[in-house]
Amino acid sequence: MAFWKKDPLESGLKEILGKEGLLSEKADVACYGFDSSGLEAEPHLVALPESIEQVCKIARLCNRLGIPLVPRGAGSSTTGSAVPVRGGVVLSFSRMKRILRIDPVELTARVEPGVVTGVLQEKVEKLGLFYPPDPASLRFCTIGGNVATGAGGARAVKYGVTKDYVRSLKVVLSDGSLIHTGAETAKGVSGYDLTHLFVGSEGTLGIVVEILLRLLPLPEAVGTAAALFNDLEAAVEAVTCLFISGILPRCAEFLDENTLSAVSRALPFDVPEETRAFLLLELDGERSSVKSQLSGLRACLKRSGAIKVLEARDAKERERLWEARRSVSPALKGLGYDRKISEDICVPRMAIKAMLSYLKEIQPLYPVDIFSFGHLGDGNLHVNLLFNSNELDEQGLDGLIKRIMKRCIELGGTISGEHGIGLAKMKYLGLELSSRVVGLERQIKKVFDPKGILNPGKIFEE
Ligand SMILES: Cc1cc2nc3c(=O)[nH]c(=O)nc-3n(C[C@H](O)[C@H](O)[C@H](O)COP(=O)(O)OP(=O)(O)OC[C@H]3O[C@@H](n4cnc5c(N)ncnc54)[C@H](O)[C@@H]3O)c2cc1C
Repeated sequence: MAFWKKDPLESGLKEILGKEGLLSEKADVACYGFDSSGLEAEPHLVALPESIEQVCKIARLCNRLGIPLVPRGAGSSTTGSAVPVRGGVVLSFSRMKRILRIDPVELTARVEPGVVTGVLQEKVEKLGLFYPPDPASLRFCTIGGNVATGAGGARAVKYGVTKDYVRSLKVVLSDGSLIHTGAETAKGVSGYDLTHLFVGSEGTLGIVVEILLRLLPLPEAVGTAAALFNDLEAAVEAVTCLFISGILPRCAEFLDENTLSAVSRALPFDVPEETRAFLLLELDGERSSVKSQLSGLRACLKRSGAIKVLEARDAKERERLWEARRSVSPALKGLGYDRKISEDICVPRMAIKAMLSYLKEIQPLYPVDIFSFGHLGDGNLHVNLLFNSNELDEQGLDGLIKRIMKRCIELGGTISGEHGIGLAKMKYLGLELSSRVVGLERQIKKVFDPKGILNPGKIFEE
């Protein structure tokens, strides 16, 4: 008989997963204790399931023992939503990453949660199909993570976000039972829409173990152009002009002056000194339609006073223009400040100018440099606050964030366009949602997870 009592969690998990499916060494589990928010907390154990059946058994065990269970994709969350703040077990989907079926008639893809978003996109595009949601993290983030955060991306302005492509889900509940939500068909309104309750729930209501995604036919042609402006308002004008002219761009991404100077080395062209904003526009559709949309786009850029316009002549040039946009986050991290807070506000298109001028107005009041970039086409502004912690304490930072969020809400916006609440925005949720709504959401959490084991300590302040 063993002298030491066996840890029922570790031995139970080993029985379910085998030795190779469980990480327990300190050095191994530490790798699963942080995400892109910079927040961290160590889990006790990391489970690497290979099947839905194993996930059911793990949830059943954790529920019985009252152990926190935190689902995890690639850990690219910018809000700390994947950080196991209460310890417990991290459930990583790195071994459940199969594309199970692509159906060209039904226009769907059935996938496991660990499939990397960019891998799915490449695969369906080879078959002439299209999965539009394109978070800038697509080379590493997972479909499971995208579903759980309700991820957006640059193409949301025309094609919508992840939730618009989730047709049905298989979800393991906190007690280990498996449910199937939604319908496999293009239409389906039987009962409440539980599928979309799970989308954006950040792993707090259930564990997504299989996803049926809607696909589209791949657009025949794409046109991409970059433009420089000597003021940010002119860039906003150019995008407004497109909408008014009946042109719906598939992407309208912008970088403000500060962000532009941070990535200027990655830009494939020289930037005149008077440049204050960069706009990256993309159109798609049938070849003839893209041609006529491009001429409308040129007219809008001219009318709004673009000082330089560059059109991509082929896929290689398009990729180079996008590289500049995608290199923003790493470029900002390399600027040498010791704090970087990334806000993710979203305002109606008509309020973009007011929001940007408010940011300009308050910047001099704080020892912070503000870098704004993001999805101008849908009003989703990634407002990055960079500073050194010896110059701004937590109270000062909190005051600044509240001012930004309150102004965003006054303008009809939301405090999170696509990154979610996680840990980082928890204390600001009440600025946007009424206590009645927060109360209802807490009750929903209780229904799905009465013991509170699923990703505890997220979204709602205790
Ligand atoms: C450089 C960079 C660029 C980014 N650009 C964008 C962007 O353009 N648009 C955007 O929306 N986001 C963006 N993000 C944020 C992030 O990539 C997204 O939130 C993404 O959806 C997270 O996916 P993930 O696989 O990394 O999930 P994780 O970070 O591992 O997890 C995120 C949340 O989902 C939960 N979760 C993960 N898998 C499951 C599952 N199977 N079942 C239930 N819950 C689960 C986790 O518990 C956690 O709450 C960016 C991040 C970085 C670092």
